[in-house]
Amino acid sequence: MSDIIDPRHEALVEHLFKRACLVLDMPGFELRPLRRRVRGRGKLRSYALGYTKLGEKLITVDLYTPRTMKPRKLDAILRVVCHELAHHQAPPRLYRKWFHFVRVIHHPKFWTQVKKNVELLQKDEVLAAYF
Ligand SMILES: [Zn+2]
Repeated sequence: MSDIIDPRHEALVEHLFKRACLVLDMPGFELRPLRRRVRGRGKLRSYALGYTKLGEKLITVDLYTPRTMKPRKLDAILRVVCHELAHHQAPPRLYRKWFHFVRVIHHPKFWTQVKKNVELLQKDEVLAAYF
């Protein structure tokens, strides 16, 4: 079952994703648009727009808004790409808490990395037009 709602939007996102990987020097990554079997439902809710698994160079991003299934804004998609790539650049850290360790995924250095990624994309001559 094909769930491609706007092929032009998807082609542009794919193009911008490739450019983002080049600018951030993250070769070999692949973008997979999130496919929903039922409109307005799916793995992702409005708060989480994407996900990635460490050890796999694959990033899944929701290209449409969950309820109306309209193409998401390109700057929002590029920010999600920055966030997901940062998971690979700044992996989870172990923090000592009392007598045990906790694994923190969104630690301070992670957010610094996301910010740095967004700034690099905003400075890029191709991608700057989309922010
Ligand atoms: Zn995250």
